[in-house]
Amino acid sequence: MRVCVDYDKCTGLGLCESIAPEFFEVQDDGSLELLQSDAAEAQRAELLEAARACPTEAIRIED
Ligand code: SF4
Repeated sequence: MRVCVDYDKCTGLGLCESIAPEFFEVQDDGSLELLQSDAAEAQRAELLEAARACPTEAIRIED
């Protein structure tokens, strides 16, 4: 499973980081850093929650 972020949509609000901080980290300049793009099946629920919480629908989870 892979995590993808559309950086053109991301506004750096950081809701994803509050839900899944091992994947998402907002930098001091407001940009988002994806800390890892490969995810285990056990992390699916957490990532789906982060994707749902993103106000700009910038996060995509791919199998
Ligand atoms: S929640 Fe969405 S818009 Fe906010 S930092 Fe994460 S990916 Fe970007």
